[in-house]
Amino acid sequence: MPDAWSTHLTEQAAGQRHTGRWRRRRTRCWSDGCRDFAGNDYLGLAGDPRLAEAQAEGARRLGAGARASHLVSGHLAVHEALEQRLAALTGRPAALLFSTGYMANLGTLQALCDPDTRVFQDRLNHASLLDGARLAGARSRRFHHNDLDDLERLLARTPNDGRRLVVSDGVFSMDGDVADIAGLAATCARHGAWLMVDDAHGLGVLGEAGDGCVGRAHGIDEVPVLVGTLGKALGSAGAFVAGSQALVEHLIQFARPYVYTTAQPPGVAAATLEALALLEAEPERRTRLATLIRRFRHEATLLGLPLAASTTPIQPLVLGGCQRVMEWAARLAERGILVGAIREPTVPRGQSRLRITLSAAHTDADLEALLEGLAACQAQDTASLQELTP
Ligand SMILES: *Cc1c(COP(=O)(O)O)cnc(C)c1O
Repeated sequence: MPDAWSTHLTEQAAGQRHTGRWRRRRTRCWSDGCRDFAGNDYLGLAGDPRLAEAQAEGARRLGAGARASHLVSGHLAVHEALEQRLAALTGRPAALLFSTGYMANLGTLQALCDPDTRVFQDRLNHASLLDGARLAGARSRRFHHNDLDDLERLLARTPNDGRRLVVSDGVFSMDGDVADIAGLAATCARHGAWLMVDDAHGLGVLGEAGDGCVGRAHGIDEVPVLVGTLGKALGSAGAFVAGSQALVEHLIQFARPYVYTTAQPPGVAAATLEALALLEAEPERRTRLATLIRRFRHEATLLGLPLAASTTPIQPLVLGGCQRVMEWAARLAERGILVGAIREPTVPRGQSRLRITLSAAHTDADLEALLEGLAACQAQDTASLQELTP
């Protein structure tokens, strides 16, 4: 007779399959010649040999691992240097490294909030932000996506009886649209709330110097808590929180996902320093990316594809049902084109989508292959519709 755990696992798996939500991993090898439009390597830095060399050199010099947490003995000069570079890039007095963006968000929200804090989150915020507020036991409310009026209403309605924190993605990871940072900051100022922005997809891509959608344009008076991640446009791994010295000190004292984890491998920090140097030295990567985005949007419009209102490298095509998304993704895969197939519950019901991401590393031939593949998917859809019509 199956025990309760086996039954539970079988039932949960069946439910996931039944609702079309079953998630699978595919092992990918770099040499298989596939065209990757699913990753977040917007500047094409992840595969740059100079990052690999910096990482190897860092490991040879300092060891493959950091050996301990930052507060014990794992905090090395390379981490310190990286924190200073990240603070400078984003125009803030200080920055604190975390091992991943997920942990940066958990740690920051857990350290800043408690059950008396009121947290206001954009409805489409990243899962780690929602989880962080939950970890803190804070009272979370969600406002309509990118809707300042709704936020204003919520803030006006809730008693101003303590600390309030408004939290938003900078660039929304499944939609590619950008938060109105100035508008959020002004609303927060009116209500005496702090603003926290997670710029995981903006850092390296947006801003005058690739400093993100917050960066130097919006200082700590507007955005006191800024999170950036290093595994996307910067092609490396890890994350950081940037803000005042007092904020960083507070996180060092109280952010459990910071305190109780091993410091980032020193080679990874060295690779990120190299990425920051390339971000500055090779602005043509951002120019190339902008050209690809414009061209993709132009040609996809001509094809009549359901483009979203996004000017960032995240270019979703909202197709509706899970089934259709899986079919399109499979047809593209047959042509060696990899795109993200994003389904509920990651996105709202009926809004399943192909998440197409562009990178400065894509060639014109890559883009043309993608557009041809999408045109073929669309043609096949039309053909099967006609078959169904008597
Ligand atoms: C990817 C992502 C994260 C998580 O960052 P990791 O370093 O991959 O853990 C956090 N927030 C947003 C908005 C993201 O897109």
